[in-house]
Amino acid sequence: MDLSSLLQALIPSWNSAYLLLGFFAYLAIAGSIVLGKLVPGVVLADGTRLHYRCLVLLLLLVALLGISAKMDFVSPTAISERGFELLSTTFIFSFLVTLALYFAGCKSQSKSSSLKPHTTGNLIHDWWFGIQLNPQFMGIDLKAGMMGWLLINLSVLAKSIQDGTLSKSMILFQIFCALYILDYFVHEEYMTSTWDIIAERLGFMLVFGDLVWIPFTFSIQGWWLLANEVELTMTTIIANCLVFLIGYMVFRGANKQKHVFKKNPKAPIWGKPPKVIGGKLLASGYWGIARHCNYLGDLLLALSFSLPCGISSPVPYFYPIYLLILLIWRERRDESRCAKKYKEIWTEYRKLVPWRILPYVY
Ligand code: NDP
Repeated sequence: MDLSSLLQALIPSWNSAYLLLGFFAYLAIAGSIVLGKLVPGVVLADGTRLHYRCLVLLLLLVALLGISAKMDFVSPTAISERGFELLSTTFIFSFLVTLALYFAGCKSQSKSSSLKPHTTGNLIHDWWFGIQLNPQFMGIDLKAGMMGWLLINLSVLAKSIQDGTLSKSMILFQIFCALYILDYFVHEEYMTSTWDIIAERLGFMLVFGDLVWIPFTFSIQGWWLLANEVELTMTTIIANCLVFLIGYMVFRGANKQKHVFKKNPKAPIWGKPPKVIGGKLLASGYWGIARHCNYLGDLLLALSFSLPCGISSPVPYFYPIYLLILLIWRERRDESRCAKKYKEIWTEYRKLVPWRILPYVY
């Protein structure tokens, strides 16, 4: 694609705006009427604790889209045929939301962005996290990002079927991503103790990252496979599946261990009583191998999404490379936050578990 056709493709259209609005209308309406489990979050820096509502909106959305496609209401390839338009439309939307959040933050009593954005009393601000009728709805923008990612993938899959180019690589990529996204929604409760929820303030990084970055860059491999052919041998398929399975085991295992520990610090880890530092930090299980083993699992998963594309081009490796940079940076931010919060307990933990992400390497 040359520059002028790329610029042409990036011009937002009403159709892409309708698709986006339809998606957010679904989130707002379904988020208000679907009942979900209410879970307590961790205690925040100011000593308060929020409660979050976990909702499985994903399956309902996929079912509704399936019905709409059957009734010829929405074409399953609508997204894959408007990728660039949707990207620019979503970017503009995110920019407007960020502006609204910025002005709401300036007007708020604390004159800053908020860790508890749904308690400001501002309509747009509250809608964003709270969807008005359901103030405890959790992480709407992250949910939207994860669902958007799946929708793009499914539309790319539909396009490859329509074009008669469906390959083993596309099937592997689709299965791995779908399992990862589904897992996010099944284990949504574990999100309540993650960085985004407990420490990240709501602003450009969260809105743009979740709405534009996640769906559009995490799906690059799918777009790439639409235009490129890859021959996979049985050995590479098996190796690829192993990378996915090990990554999943470490990622989910580490996040689960921390979540369980936060709820009950005496709960056994790998069948043994947990090793605890200062009554607050878990130093056994995955958290005794590296201080952020969960990042290692995520990186292996990201790699497994790209391996089906072979090694002929660096383009499909955009996501694992980006994630590597992001997680190294994030680990350092989290490290300094924890060092301030836990002081000498953290120093002791660092001595006991010297590796940050990958034992003997980093
Ligand atoms: P973590 O879930 O690792 O949370 C970090 C927090 O956990 C710390 O601030 C601290 O909080 C607590 N903590 C740290 N060490 C310990 C310990 N040993 N014992 C008890 N508590 C501890 O961070 P993230 O939110 O960054 O990551 C969550 C998941 O999301 C990860 O698996 C990550 O890979 C994934 N992720 C994926 C991204 C993507 O783009 N694919 C982007 C970012 C994250 P406290 O003050 O509560 O103790």
